[in-house]
Amino acid sequence: MKPITKRSWAEPYKIKMVELLKMTGPAQRKKALKEAGYNTFLLQSEDVYIDLLTDSGTSAMSDRQWAGMMLGDEAYAGSKNFYHLEETIRSVYGYQYIIPTHQGRGAENILSKILIKKGDIIPGNMYFTTTRLHQELAGGKFEDIIIDEAHQPENEFPFKGNVDLSKLDRLVKKYGAKRIPYVSIATSVNMAGGQPISLQNLKELRAYTKKNGIRIIHDMTRVAENAYFIQQREKGQQHKSIKQLVKEICSYTDGATMSAKKDALVNIGGFMAINDWDVFEEARNMVVVYEGLHTYGGLAGRDMEAMAIGIKESVDDNHIQARVGQVIYLGEKMIEYGIPIVKPIGGHGIFVDAKKFLPHIPQNQFTAQALAAEIYLDSGVRTMERGIVSAGRKTNGENYYPKLELVRFTIPRRVYTQAHMDVIAESVARVYDRRQKIKGLKMVYEPKYLRFFQARFEPLK
Ligand SMILES: *Cc1c(COP(=O)(O)O)cnc(C)c1O
Repeated sequence: MKPITKRSWAEPYKIKMVELLKMTGPAQRKKALKEAGYNTFLLQSEDVYIDLLTDSGTSAMSDRQWAGMMLGDEAYAGSKNFYHLEETIRSVYGYQYIIPTHQGRGAENILSKILIKKGDIIPGNMYFTTTRLHQELAGGKFEDIIIDEAHQPENEFPFKGNVDLSKLDRLVKKYGAKRIPYVSIATSVNMAGGQPISLQNLKELRAYTKKNGIRIIHDMTRVAENAYFIQQREKGQQHKSIKQLVKEICSYTDGATMSAKKDALVNIGGFMAINDWDVFEEARNMVVVYEGLHTYGGLAGRDMEAMAIGIKESVDDNHIQARVGQVIYLGEKMIEYGIPIVKPIGGHGIFVDAKKFLPHIPQNQFTAQALAAEIYLDSGVRTMERGIVSAGRKTNGENYYPKLELVRFTIPRRVYTQAHMDVIAESVARVYDRRQKIKGLKMVYEPKYLRFFQARFEPLK
C-alpha cells in the first residue's frame, strides 16, 4: 500500500439543489462564438458550460440565506432586516454606522461625493474601474501608491497589495495632507490579480495617516480572502481566526465601501460604513437621493437579510479555506501543465499570461481575446480578456498598450466542484498543446465607451 502523505480538504457543504447545465458540442460553440463576434461578453449564458466571466453576484447562497429571503420585512421604513444587517456589520467588521446601497458603486458614489472636493488627490493601492471613476466624477484625481512588485506578473512577493509608504509620503509633501481626503485601500487587490495587503503594512499606513490627519477608506469587497492570505502567509498571524483578522483589518481604517456581490455571498447588495458621525449624517441624507431611504438603500428587505447571513458565513475559516483552496487547486493544476500564470495565485481567480502563451500573436492582434475565444471553442469554458481591449484608448485616440495581457478565470463561490476545475485545467492544457496553430483577431466593431463589453472581432486568415 502507498503511504498516505497528505490529508485533503473538501468543500464544507453538501449539495441540496442543482442547476442543470447545457452541454455544448464543438459545432454549436463555433456558431455561438461567431455570432458573439469572438467576444465572450456577447455569448449567451445558455451556450456556456462553465462560466468564469466574473465572481460578482454569481455565488451560490446557502439554505440559511434562502430561508432568510422568506423573512423579508418589506416595510418602506425601518425594516427589521436592516437592523439585523446593521448589527451584523457592527459585530463582524466593527464599523459604527452603515448605509445599505444597491451594490458597491452606489456606496462609492455617495462616499466620494461627501469626502472629495475638486482638486483633491486620492492615493490608493491600484485603481479599480468604478472606484476611480466615482473619485474622478467628484473632482478628485487617483494616484497609484501600490508597491512596484504588483505590476510584475513573475514576482512572487506574498503581499503584492501593499502600499509603498514612500510613494504616499511624496504625494503628501507635494500636495499637502489637506488636499488628500483619504487613502483608498483595497483588500485583495482586484486589478493586481486578487493580491493581499499585509497586516504589518496596514498598521504602518495607519500610523502614518494618523500622524498626518488623513482617513483610510477601505474597499472591503474581498476582505475575507485577504484575511486568509494573512493567516497563511504572514509571520505571527497563524493562530488568529479569519473572523479576528477581518475585524482587525477593519479596525485600522475609518470607513468602507462594500460590494456584497463578492465576499458576502449574495447576488445583489452593498453598503457604505463609517465611524464618523458627521459623514454618516450626510450620507444618510444623500442616500435618499440616489438609492432609497437609509433603511433599505435600493434593496428589498429580503436582500438585506440574505446579506446579513452571508456576511457571517463569509468569515468562517472552513468556508474561506475551501474558497481560496479551490482557486489555488486550479492554479497549481495549470502550473503542472506548464501554463504561464500570474504568481502568486490570488484569491478569486487565475490570470493566464497570454503574451507568454501565444508569443507569436502581437498585442495589436488581441492576444488575450484570441486565447479566451479559443478556450471557449475547446470546452465551453467562458473566461474574459484583461489586456489591450480592456485598457481602451487614451484621450488622444491612441491605444493603451498595457504591460499585462491576461485571460482571467474568475471562480464563483460555492458554485463549481473540483471536477469542474479539472475540466478547466485540461481544456487549457489542450489549447496550449496546439498553441502554434492559433491565430490573432482583428477588431471589426469598436464602441466608444468600455469597449471590451461590446467590441466585435473576426479571426485573421
Ligand atoms: C466589484 C467591485 C467594486 C464595485 O462593486 P459593484 O457591486 O460591482 O458596484 C468595487 N471595488 C472592487 C474591488 C470590486 O471588485
